[in-house]
Amino acid sequence: MIAEIRQKIFNGDNVNTEDILHTVKHCPLHEVIELAHQITLKYASNKFDMCSIINAKSGRCPENCKWCAQSVHYSTNIEEYGIVSEDICVKHAAENERYGVSRFSLVTSGKKPNDGELDKICSIYRKIKENCNIKLCASLGLVNYQQLQKLHESGVERYHCNLETSPGMFGKLCSTHSQEQKIETIKAAQKCGMTVCSGGIIGMGESMEDRAEMALILKDLGILSIPINLLQSIKGTPLENTEKLSEEEILRTIALFRMINPKAYLRFAGGRSQISEEGVKQALYTGINSAIVGNLLTTIGSGIDEDIKRIKESGYEL
Ligand code: SF4
Repeated sequence: MIAEIRQKIFNGDNVNTEDILHTVKHCPLHEVIELAHQITLKYASNKFDMCSIINAKSGRCPENCKWCAQSVHYSTNIEEYGIVSEDICVKHAAENERYGVSRFSLVTSGKKPNDGELDKICSIYRKIKENCNIKLCASLGLVNYQQLQKLHESGVERYHCNLETSPGMFGKLCSTHSQEQKIETIKAAQKCGMTVCSGGIIGMGESMEDRAEMALILKDLGILSIPINLLQSIKGTPLENTEKLSEEEILRTIALFRMINPKAYLRFAGGRSQISEEGVKQALYTGINSAIVGNLLTTIGSGIDEDIKRIKESGYEL
């Protein structure tokens, strides 16, 4: 089975998702990793893409996403603040630029910014553009076409909006907005001329089939940057007692994404500090070829220096 799939993928033929799922779930781990690695070498970029984010507005979110520390529905003791200052954002962008990080994104809590907040955010982007040479991304929730146009005109070239999970799982994890609304935002961003970054969180109780479904929707949407977050069970949220995925399950999932999305950047995002050093190395070998570096939102990632060292050791170019 694994040789057949390899042949089909390398011939550019369509591979049945059932066959990919069977391979990922049942073949020996080292064979699954090796196949994903070969696909990565053949189709994905060897130039590692590092991006960075700033939590530009924190907490007080009226939405009820069960994984999130920023929702007002749960008591999580996180720091809460409104839109951060231009100076702080420019300082962070410049610092990341110095490290060779290629992208910088403002991330805000909430369903979407109001008009006043959006004006402030656009002004921050223009200021960064004047002062730094770094690509600009935005992750501001369910913004509409007009808001996306304003962001694009202010220098934002990529919009981030995670699908989070499969359509079947989404409604069980959030009831204040839908995955369809997320897809509307993704399509609106593409219509504005932006590229889109969209992925999800694994380890929220979904099956490998759910993950495959999400990977296929992302493929159909033409997404070429897919963040893979590992659930960090945050105390106070409904998912606080969720059992962690094993490293084997994480590696099999990365391989699944690589087989369904051969050309995409698979981006290590939140929660990766819970994997061992060896697990991180194997994840990079399996198909992770991009990462959010530095400290991530409400969960601590790792220092940029450490990330750069690991990336280089794994044979990627920066
Ligand atoms: S909309 Fe965003 S900030 Fe608000 S609860 Fe959901 S994930 Fe958290």
